[in-house]
Amino acid sequence: MDCIFCKIVAGEIPSKKIYEDELVYVFEDIAPTAPIHYLIIPKEHISSAAEITPENSTVISHIFEVIAKLAKELNIQDGFRIVNNCGESAGQTVFHLHFHLLAGRKLEWPAG
Ligand code: 5GP
Ligand code: ZN
Repeated sequence: MDCIFCKIVAGEIPSKKIYEDELVYVFEDIAPTAPIHYLIIPKEHISSAAEITPENSTVISHIFEVIAKLAKELNIQDGFRIVNNCGESAGQTVFHLHFHLLAGRKLEWPAG
C-alpha cells in the first residue's frame, strides 16, 4: 500500500521518533505549526477517524493514554491541543489516521 505513514512505521521513510510501542508510533510533524507538533498514529493502517470500528478501536483509547503520558513528561499539562482532521474538506492530507499534538504556544480558539 502506498501510504507514507505506513512507510514511516516500517522505517522506509525517516522520521524523528518521539515514542513507540506495539500499537502506536509518535513522531515530529515535518512542518510544525507549534513548538511541539507531534503526530500520534496507530501502527495498523486505519485511513481516517471515519473508519474506526468496534474491531479496530482498542488503539484509540491507547493513543489517548500515550498522549496523557507524553503531556506529563513534556510538562505541557497547562495547555495542549489534540487535532484530528477527518476527510478532505476538513483538511486531511494523509489518509492514515493521525492525531496532531500541539503545544508550546498560545493556542487560539476557534482554532488558529
Ligand atoms: P493532515 O493535514 O492530514 O491532518 O496532517 C498531515 C500532517 O502530516 C501534516 O501536518 C504534514 O506536515 C505531516 N506530514 C506529511 N508528510 C510527512 C512526512 O513525510 N513526515 C512527517 N514527519 N510529517 C509529514
Ligand atoms: Zn498507512
